[in-house]
Amino acid sequence: MNILVLNCGSSSLKFQLIDSATEAVLAKGICERIGIDGVLTYTPQGGDKEETKKSMPTHTEAIRFVLEALTDEKTGVIRSLSEVGAVGHRVVHGGESFTESVLIDAKVKRAIEDCSELAPLHNPANLIGINACEELMPGTPMAAVFDTAFHQTMPPKAYLYGLPYRYYEDYKLRRYGFHGTSHSYVSKRAAQILEKPYDELKIIVCHLGNGASLSAVKNGECVDTSMGLTPLQGLIMGTRSGDIDPSAVEFIADKENTDIAGVMKILNKESGVYGMSKGLSSDFRDLWKGAEAGDVYAKEAIETFCYNVAKYIGAYAAAMNGVDAVVFTAGVGENDYRVREQVCGYLGYLETKIDVEANKARGEETVISTPDSKVTLLVVPTNEELAIARETLRLVK
Ligand code: AMP
Repeated sequence: MNILVLNCGSSSLKFQLIDSATEAVLAKGICERIGIDGVLTYTPQGGDKEETKKSMPTHTEAIRFVLEALTDEKTGVIRSLSEVGAVGHRVVHGGESFTESVLIDAKVKRAIEDCSELAPLHNPANLIGINACEELMPGTPMAAVFDTAFHQTMPPKAYLYGLPYRYYEDYKLRRYGFHGTSHSYVSKRAAQILEKPYDELKIIVCHLGNGASLSAVKNGECVDTSMGLTPLQGLIMGTRSGDIDPSAVEFIADKENTDIAGVMKILNKESGVYGMSKGLSSDFRDLWKGAEAGDVYAKEAIETFCYNVAKYIGAYAAAMNGVDAVVFTAGVGENDYRVREQVCGYLGYLETKIDVEANKARGEETVISTPDSKVTLLVVPTNEELAIARETLRLVK
């Protein structure tokens, strides 16, 4: 069965058409600048990437262009939409309503809408994507795969904040965590690579991309994660601040003469390694180039990022009373051996030994610790689209 995986952001839409039998990606691409002007980038399997400017006032037009591209006579990969057996939607926030992926019906859509106040930029876009598919491909089964679902196994001591309890009761203000599809996929792959039962392992997953989060997975269940009510909490990221003293919000508002919305924009878009490097870049490749050329801000940004990751690893090793494996994934985690080396440099107390040569691997599943290391260190490339396709297939079957 061909499964269309859709990831609708506020002004973008990523897609992949996956053949579930072979797990091959038949075509993939992205619509960007939705609501502004519109650009469709489309790559069929074995073909060339093509970029087309198209007017996309809403996600509905964007999805229509994607479906046209997939069925195009020359560059399409299917003859008609009847060859799409199901659609898997990435949905950012499932609140406490969803502990796993579900088939979409009217009740599920209402629940996704109810969670919109927890993810005001993402959930409405996800819903628009769902409605557009219903309109354009009526009758095709659709699944919602939530970013938050994997973390719903966290105990109250991990998800409660030190705030008046009624905020949790009345407003559902708590830690939720994100990147759940990635944490789930990567931790399960790690267990397979280690050839040990998933439910007998203590695994720390370091999802280090432009957005970054850690999770502690004990006996097959997430017991803690670094992102919170929103993806702003936790590690220093590309442009997000991660953890700061909450008083800094008022302090910045006073000093910069701005309001809460202004401060939130600063914390989400102008902070992280981008802000720390004085705007050099949020991309670690640029930061390393800068650091090599003597840019002290870039060097400090990288060092602070790595130190933060190492501190969270320490916290999660304590939370689980030990750790069997530390796994690196996502753009930085998969590709940046120097970041991994720096992070692992803090883990000597766990009797962890990195294999410096094996660690040079890029973007492939690799054990990067020595055989005598007490904790296995691994690189496992994440594949959220494939995980969504598998979940969708499981539900449709
Ligand atoms: P993601 O959000 O998982 O797509 O990760 C994107 C980030 O990965 C980029 O902003 C870069 O910081 C980082 N990245 C991608 N490729 C490399 C690379 N070869 N070396 C270092 N960092 C990389």
